[in-house]
Amino acid sequence: MKRIINQMKLRLPAISSNEAVARSIVSAFIAELNPSVEEIGDVRCAVSEAVTNAIVHAYPDTWDGEYPQIYISVRLYSGRELSVEVSDNGIGIEDVEKARQPMFTTAPSDERCGMGFLVMESFMDEVTVKSRLGHGTRV
Ligand code: ATP
Ligand code: MG
Repeated sequence: MKRIINQMKLRLPAISSNEAVARSIVSAFIAELNPSVEEIGDVRCAVSEAVTNAIVHAYPDTWDGEYPQIYISVRLYSGRELSVEVSDNGIGIEDVEKARQPMFTTAPSDERCGMGFLVMESFMDEVTVKSRLGHGTRV
């Protein structure tokens, strides 16, 4: 049976500079699993796409006062397994299956290419997306 050997929870304002922050912290945290350079790269890419999505898509309205937050939770398991959960309390996704299709994007065509979920899927063994309109998204 797999056993949790370490875990971390992180909460950051959903601002673009925190994409690099999240990526770096997660890759530092997984170091105890002795990942290869390639494995670190895979995790960094997947985290980057998930966090960027939360920053770019989850909170489209301008806000005053406190910044909306993104939540990152990382678990390390025995047997060199890990899970990374990125969630937000934003607008949610109307049709998750459609959103996961390659080249589907709700952003203006010159800004995004709709490949984020595909990148996450290609670098991770498994990607689960749960979302509720008006409540948020958990990847
Ligand atoms: P790219 O990642 O290539 O820059 P993209 O972000 O549009 O483009 P995906 O990452 O595949 O592409 O996401 C597809 C769509 O899913 C987004 O355009 C957006 O509509 C929706 N989406 C993804 N993540 C979230 C989120 N956290 N909150 C709300 N909507 C989201
Ligand atoms: Mg994206």
